[in-house]
Amino acid sequence: MALPFTIEAQTGTARLGRIQTAHGPVETPAFMPVGTVGSVKAVPQDVLEELDAHIILGNTYHLYLRPGHELVRSLGGLHKFMSWDRALLTDSGGFQVFSLGDLTKVSEEGVTFRSHLDGTSHLFTPERSMEIQIALGSDIVMAFDECTEHPAERERSRTSMEMTLRWARRSKEYFDAHEHEVPWTQIAGSTPATPALSGIVQGGMYADLRRESAERTVELDFPCYAIGGLSVGEPREKTVEMIAAALEVLPKDKPRYVMGVGYPHEIVQYAAMGVDMMDCVLPTRAGRHGLLFTSEGRMNIKNARFAQDQGPADPKCSCKVCARYSRAYLRHLFVAAEPLAGLLNTIHNLAFYLDTMRAVRHAIRLGDLSGLLSASVSLA
Ligand SMILES: [Zn+2]
Repeated sequence: MALPFTIEAQTGTARLGRIQTAHGPVETPAFMPVGTVGSVKAVPQDVLEELDAHIILGNTYHLYLRPGHELVRSLGGLHKFMSWDRALLTDSGGFQVFSLGDLTKVSEEGVTFRSHLDGTSHLFTPERSMEIQIALGSDIVMAFDECTEHPAERERSRTSMEMTLRWARRSKEYFDAHEHEVPWTQIAGSTPATPALSGIVQGGMYADLRRESAERTVELDFPCYAIGGLSVGEPREKTVEMIAAALEVLPKDKPRYVMGVGYPHEIVQYAAMGVDMMDCVLPTRAGRHGLLFTSEGRMNIKNARFAQDQGPADPKCSCKVCARYSRAYLRHLFVAAEPLAGLLNTIHNLAFYLDTMRAVRHAIRLGDLSGLLSASVSLA
């Protein structure tokens, strides 16, 4: 298990780096589009390539239930199944299971839950989560964790954090014994040709628990560290405080991934703090709801004031949607509930997020993030 990571430049706490996966390099700081069921909703894979996405996410919970990880494995793994030969990261399934709330029963062994599709009962354990992610052929596998609910008392957060640590150890033991079972170990000439397992820091909204969780996760020795359990309804200052607490402890020579964040100005800020990877459903989900992220701020495209607006969604955006279509047309598509609306809005939003990260990387290389930080904050 290895995940070579080189840092090419640093500005303050921000790092410009490169992660080498078995399916190609990922330049960091990276934003990772979310492909829940083996599809970044509404966006074909060739467009993701055009947008220069080098890594996307798959959701273990959804792919396990449908079409099933054994089927995906038998078809050569998720890369082959969805025709995506760049990097894939899978989550552990934990977050989705926990977000089903009262349908879950948590024990030391794992989590029992009912499928949202047909109500059948299932058990996710750390071992099972590893087995599924390895069968899918993920490049970066996430340890099975308990996403602590919010709000949670201190003792509850500690108990949950301890469970995540025990599950991290079990995840690692299973992963180390089975990582070679990914469907793609025969990739010619690739280095490395194995997936990597990422540990996850929990600890609720308590900075000292976050630091302790980070220290003890690092003792287990992972090639990548994620900070989970954020964006669960806490105020944003709290998110920043929890990220800062974990970053203090996490090794600087390993990629650090904050899960499930955020708005464009937030991902700029977190990258400036030293976060290397982020993912969020916002650009895709918001796009389907007609919310566009632009260099002029957020824009609700269904607004009547765009009915005769011949300008592009974002005059500063070079994406193929902004190059070709007007706000008036995008508004019309959305109001008419045309499927093309979701597709075009999502492509623009992903372009905006990926361009934002590209601008961050450029600024780190030039040694000055201040302009980008103040410009992005003004859009908040
Ligand atoms: Zn655009």
